[in-house]
Amino acid sequence: MPFVILAIVVIAGIVLLAGRGRLSNRKCKWRKEGLRHGTSSTRWLCMTCRAEAFTWDALPPKECKRDVRPTQL
Ligand SMILES: [Zn+2]
Repeated sequence: MPFVILAIVVIAGIVLLAGRGRLSNRKCKWRKEGLRHGTSSTRWLCMTCRAEAFTWDALPPKECKRDVRPTQL
């Protein structure tokens, strides 16, 4: 029954990928980038949507800043 096993593996892979994609869209992975220059706020960089955020309590942001477009200087 090689085809059944192959089908199960493929379906499981699709489900896993879809679940991970949904999860990554909802939950952001924040990476600590150190302290902001001149202040005591912590700089964070989102690994899932490349958003940048700053917090004052040294904790990662609770919501993503992907909708906040950075002002181009
Ligand atoms: Zn994000």
